[in-house]
Amino acid sequence: DRTTCWLLGDQLNPDLDVLDAADDVLLIEAHGFADRKPYHAHKLTLVFSAMRHFRDELRERGRDVTYVRAESFGEGLDEFFAERAGRGAGDGGDDGDGPRLRLMRPASHGAGERLRELVAERGGTLELVDNELFWTTPADWREWAGGEETAIGADGAADRTYRQENWYRHVRRETGVLMDDGDPVGGEWNYDDLNQEMPPDEWEPPARPTFEPDALTRETHAWVCERFDTWGNDSLDGFAWPVTRGEAREALDRFVREGLPAFGRYQDAMVGGEPFLSHSLLSPAINLGLLDPREPVRAVERAYQERGVEPGAYDPAEHDRDGAGSTSLDDFGDGAESETPSEPAPVPLNAAEGFVRQVIGWREFMRHVYREAMPELADANQLDQQRELPPAYWDGETDMRCLSEAVGHVREHGYAHHIERLMVLSNFALVYGADPAELNEWFHLGFVDAYHWVTTPNVVAMGSFGTDVLSSKPYASSGSYVNRMSDHCADCPYAVSRTTGEGACPFNALYWDFLKENEETLRGTGRMGLMYSHVDDKDDAEWAAIRDRADRVRELAAEGEL
Ligand code: FAD
Repeated sequence: DRTTCWLLGDQLNPDLDVLDAADDVLLIEAHGFADRKPYHAHKLTLVFSAMRHFRDELRERGRDVTYVRAESFGEGLDEFFAERAGRGAGDGGDDGDGPRLRLMRPASHGAGERLRELVAERGGTLELVDNELFWTTPADWREWAGGEETAIGADGAADRTYRQENWYRHVRRETGVLMDDGDPVGGEWNYDDLNQEMPPDEWEPPARPTFEPDALTRETHAWVCERFDTWGNDSLDGFAWPVTRGEAREALDRFVREGLPAFGRYQDAMVGGEPFLSHSLLSPAINLGLLDPREPVRAVERAYQERGVEPGAYDPAEHDRDGAGSTSLDDFGDGAESETPSEPAPVPLNAAEGFVRQVIGWREFMRHVYREAMPELADANQLDQQRELPPAYWDGETDMRCLSEAVGHVREHGYAHHIERLMVLSNFALVYGADPAELNEWFHLGFVDAYHWVTTPNVVAMGSFGTDVLSSKPYASSGSYVNRMSDHCADCPYAVSRTTGEGACPFNALYWDFLKENEETLRGTGRMGLMYSHVDDKDDAEWAAIRDRADRVRELAAEGEL
């Protein structure tokens, strides 16, 4: 029996097993979704260009690919069914039973069932199989989690809180990544305490790998700009994301060679004018399927086996701009000048472990939490936060250096790194009181790597504390965190040292006001004791001044005057 493998726009990998088992391939480029929100022009360009390149690559490999451009999946299927009906039986045409399709289970909640119905309504069958583009399966998760699936109540409270760190250790054991005879390599599971440094001024991050847009990407971009209302940078200048599997692998090689040595140490740092630092910039490629998540993890593990040094033993700041590429491993440690400039720098264990944790820990974890906690997760709002996002999220116009810098990165590149996402963009929205669902939508349309399955747990649960399904405490902080982990506050007109009065850092009053406002939900929750002891230390006059300042900040922010 003839079977067509239908691949979605985030399943663009030519080496999938599901492809081997199929006779031909269907790709539907559906456009209607992008009319509903003003997506970043780079995001739409990336997704559609990657799909078109993938089509061409499969055809070059000799695959029979039906590529349909349509408003919706329904219309795309109509066209596909009509095309099948028109083919002769010997040419893959309809044999009377309707086309048989096979699809890897979509990451987006409910999509598999919806698509199965669309196919059935047209007289075909759709078989859903496990999604190979995640390392762990729903069954793996269930076995680890035990018991029943979690549920989120109407109040946003989950009936269990999953711990990423426990999941991460389980996956390390199961996959054997960075394991040594059943124990974690180096003796510790997690070296995060070494990964919170600010780079000194003289350190320069490795150059970002760039992939020059080819004719197909340029054509796609021109069509995107004409066809859709987009947000953010709509020029192709600065568009440098990999759009093919080959480019994605090159991006991975570059990261492992040049970015990885400093990845751990400066992972949490924010530096003015440096959106990328030593981050891998691989999430767009991984989330499109261009890279299988096993690939970056194994590549980093291999790099550690070949170039590994003790946790913290390599200091990128002691090496110059070409540091990542100018240190010979043989010379490392004895201070000798390198004679082999192309030799990559050493990989300290905290860098390799830190990276691996992001992918097999956080990424896989978020996917399973999403699966279990949807559909309630999308609307979870246990703190009942209702404010509209301030205009600064759209236009980047604010005197707050940290916020204007982070929004600027998103507008320009459709990217901001993890700490900007968590400790600036979602932290500000959290203490300001923004509606988590609106924030989720903002992330979804603005980021090149954003899909519902990944923004929703990150934004609604982790960033907005809409539910306690994955942490027992909100990621809320005052300006002091930003001050410690960035160089922004020194150049900011707001004073991070002050909480109240004109000119005080907006984060400070909002933070205390947030704790006070949400005392009922937060006081008793895990690890908030210390924070509430500070709340208890403040007298009535201090609270009045905090409240005044927080009100003023909210007013200014809402008016776009902050
Ligand atoms: P690196 O810092 O180099 O990390 C390596 C890889 O780890 C990433 O490529 C990614 O695949 C994975 N990873 C790390 N943390 C997470 C996480 N929490 N969830 C999923 N994967 C993770 N990630 C997305 O892929 N898409 C999103 O839309 C997205 N939205 C986010 C929104 C918020 C509020 C927060 C706090 C985090 C979000 N993340 C999202 C997670 C993380 O910030 C990004 O994966 C990361 O910044 C991507 O950049 P990078 O590839 O340079 O990452």
